[in-house]
Amino acid sequence: MAPQRQPKILIVGAGMSGMLAAIRLIEAGFTDFRVYEKGPDVGGTWRVNTYPGIACDVPSHYYTYKSEPNPNWTARLPQGSEIQQYLVDVAKKHALHQFISFDKEVVDCQHDGKQWTVTLQDGETLIVDFVVACCGLLFNPTYPDIAGLDEFEGDCFHSARWDHSVSFEGKRVGLIGTGSTGAQIMSNLAKLKLSLTIFLRTPQWVFPLPDREYSSAEKTLAKWFPSIARFGHFFYRVTFENLFAKAVIKPGWQRRLMGWACKKNLESVQDPNLRARLTPDFEPLCKRLVMSDSYYSSIQKENVSIADGDIEKISGNTVFTKDGQQHELDVLVLATGYDAHAYFRPMNLKNKDGVQLNDLWSEGPFALRTVAVPGFPNFFFTLGPQSPIGNFSAISIVETQIDYIIECIAWAGQGSVRTVEATTQATDEFNKMVYAAMPDTIWVSGCTNWYTGKKGIPSAWPFTGARFREELKAPRLEEFSVTH
Ligand code: NAP
Repeated sequence: MAPQRQPKILIVGAGMSGMLAAIRLIEAGFTDFRVYEKGPDVGGTWRVNTYPGIACDVPSHYYTYKSEPNPNWTARLPQGSEIQQYLVDVAKKHALHQFISFDKEVVDCQHDGKQWTVTLQDGETLIVDFVVACCGLLFNPTYPDIAGLDEFEGDCFHSARWDHSVSFEGKRVGLIGTGSTGAQIMSNLAKLKLSLTIFLRTPQWVFPLPDREYSSAEKTLAKWFPSIARFGHFFYRVTFENLFAKAVIKPGWQRRLMGWACKKNLESVQDPNLRARLTPDFEPLCKRLVMSDSYYSSIQKENVSIADGDIEKISGNTVFTKDGQQHELDVLVLATGYDAHAYFRPMNLKNKDGVQLNDLWSEGPFALRTVAVPGFPNFFFTLGPQSPIGNFSAISIVETQIDYIIECIAWAGQGSVRTVEATTQATDEFNKMVYAAMPDTIWVSGCTNWYTGKKGIPSAWPFTGARFREELKAPRLEEFSVTH
């Protein structure tokens, strides 16, 4: 039903979820909205991250909007630049640029009981009824706390801020971090003529997810028969949700199978000393699995060496490790991850009573059904606390969340509703249910991982994909307090 009123809506971010929010708002008949994007183009994560080897370890046909199948994917596991191009093409197809203001960073949102006053980095302000924060999840880089890092005399940068002016050929390169990002960078840099030192602090389990290029015949067929790409989405979704997503949430054959595959993969390392060095001391899947079929072959290349990941200090161009070794380097790459619990912050949020979101979340972020927080009316977000980020494709999570958020906004579009605010009771009940299921998950089985927050509770989803869609099927009016 077309909205009878047009609330003023601001979407923050023109990445994968902000774009989808815009598309869905258009489809739902909302016209008074804008997207503010801090960068110069759409794409979010895939625009910002350009490190060598960047790819998505979720199969391409599944890492795709359900409503926008893409017959042109060139491989099972898409390269970052290809995903970025896909997002640019989707934005073009839906003429989204007319709704987007680029280079506009939202820094502050204050609610006066009726509306939000939004302030941008450049001092501009605007007043809106709704804010939907689509800021992504992993976008605040974490820098390691290493003495002397700032004074490193060579080139040094985080994986999310890749310096493309730096040449690597013939250089002594150090890499701190061996998670999903570090693994992709390592496999790529190891192909070059350089000497690569991996500072390995905690070895991770590596699942040998095979990639393969799609042949031109396959791509042509997918173009002629769009149902092939749709089937690819369905196939990979069902496979992910029934294998990987079930393995992380409870014990069972899925967990045993994934673990067995990781252990078998590790056996490909022939040298027993190296194998011991690469053997994690926690269960497979406890940390986010590294998906790679080239990790172990790369790390065994002659130009790659492993150093102690416990770094004492950096002085000049030398990294001193706690085992007493010194490593002289020309370039130091930090694949040291993100602050995954910042969510849409550092954006500052304040409500009419002067309560800051930072204070409300001081003990750890929480939300109603992953998308709203009590005390902050008409403010919604994607990929919020307890989203199934470690379970399946981020795009499919966001599709569910956006539909839910737009139904909440639609209340204001239909009747006399002005504000909708998650109740504390509903939020507490939701989180109680989620936290109660955590003991069965693999994330609490004894490792450090970026899912787990201050209180030792993973900010992740301990149920199936079907349950997530069910819980966010439609907003329940009794879970919100409403003003007219
Ligand atoms: P991460 O998983 O948080 O890994 C950070 C790495 O840096 C870890 O190996 C960590 O070691 C190491 N580290 C941090 N501080 C250190 C220090 N002071 N000294 C030595 N080592 C240090 O970060 P990420 O690899 O960027 O991945 C984050 C997430 O992004 C992934 O889990 C995944 O969800 C997503 N991602 C996805 C893809 C994809 O293909 N879909 C690709 C890349 C990233 P410890 O383990 O010892 O802390």
